[in-house]
Amino acid sequence: MDNLTSQYKDVWVFAEQRHGVITPVVYELLGEGKKIAGETGSDLCALLIGKNVSSLADELIMYGADKVYVADDPLLENYTTDGYTKVFSDAISKYKPEIVLYGATHIGRDLAPRIAARVNTGLTADCTKLEVDPEDKKLKQTRPAFGGNLMATIICPDHRPQMSTVRPGVMEKAAKNETNRGTVIIVDLKLQAEDIRTRIINIIKSKKNIVSLTDADIIVSGGKGLGCPEGFNLIKQLADVLGGSVGASRAAVDAGWIDHSNQVGQTGTTVKPKIYIACGISGAIQHLAGMSQSDIIIAINKNPDAPIFSVADYGIVGDLNQVIPMLVEAFSEHRTQTA
Ligand code: FAD
Repeated sequence: MDNLTSQYKDVWVFAEQRHGVITPVVYELLGEGKKIAGETGSDLCALLIGKNVSSLADELIMYGADKVYVADDPLLENYTTDGYTKVFSDAISKYKPEIVLYGATHIGRDLAPRIAARVNTGLTADCTKLEVDPEDKKLKQTRPAFGGNLMATIICPDHRPQMSTVRPGVMEKAAKNETNRGTVIIVDLKLQAEDIRTRIINIIKSKKNIVSLTDADIIVSGGKGLGCPEGFNLIKQLADVLGGSVGASRAAVDAGWIDHSNQVGQTGTTVKPKIYIACGISGAIQHLAGMSQSDIIIAINKNPDAPIFSVADYGIVGDLNQVIPMLVEAFSEHRTQTA
């Protein structure tokens, strides 16, 4: 280990919070961070940033943090790139963590690259696996590359800290232990109002229906083959009659036909329902990555050579505009008879 890297120690987790509620991925980072800290013989620390957030420190300790650094200031009430970057970068320069983990949330994805540039280190974005090299104790950061066709393992040999954003829902959550004890350190801030170039005038929450696909037993998904946004009315009818949820391919989401929370696949949700019905979805590798573990896969596609048929248990070659109404009718009748 050279002089530079030997000055750095401890594993840090960005304890992202919104309106005083810790973001779920933080518990996953604490779970993973604890393992890494164990293997590198260091402490697990969390950095809390916000206004009146010190009361959250106890919770982080119960979930495994040995130390919680608290940066509390009225200027940090709402997330701003400038404010958080300054506070976080100053803390890194002062306390010198060896590893820093962020959730790959909207905030984490915005913040981590800024900090990487500010403190002159590397960042591996959207990691799905972290390991410590048993030989040299460096962090091995794995993430999908080349459109998900291969997994790349990346190291940061010459700069510190080693930093990753971690995809939510992949790592195991830390277990809560109310008897855990830890230290709370108040960070001495040098933040001025002029450091923040953005002024937040108002925050308006969008009223969208976020779907939960992870727990659904039946998912009916629609793709670009639906032809238009109204095609999702057909998908919804079939989902309703089966008591299922509506999923989508990225092409349908990118076209603006449906919300991203419905997207299944590598950059959407990974699902494992009892029944997955893919309608007008070609079966690109990135889509398959999110649904191929489903118990039963049914595909409806007018192209008999569509790759989706290679993973389907049942394939229906035909126009979905004809096939789906027939299925809705058949299942409705079945439901009436069994009621
Ligand atoms: P298309 O590929 O255009 O397929 C449409 C299908 O509909 C065709 O097979 C066609 O035969 C069929 N069809 C057309 N009309 C009808 C009809 N009337 N009746 C029946 N069938 C019909 N994709 C995802 O889904 N999820 C992801 O998370 C995701 N992440 C990605 C990440 C990266 C980094 C990249 C590069 C790509 C990602 N993609 C993802 C995109 C992916 O590569 C495909 O572009 C996308 O899945 C295609 O969507 P689709 O199957 O709906 O559209």
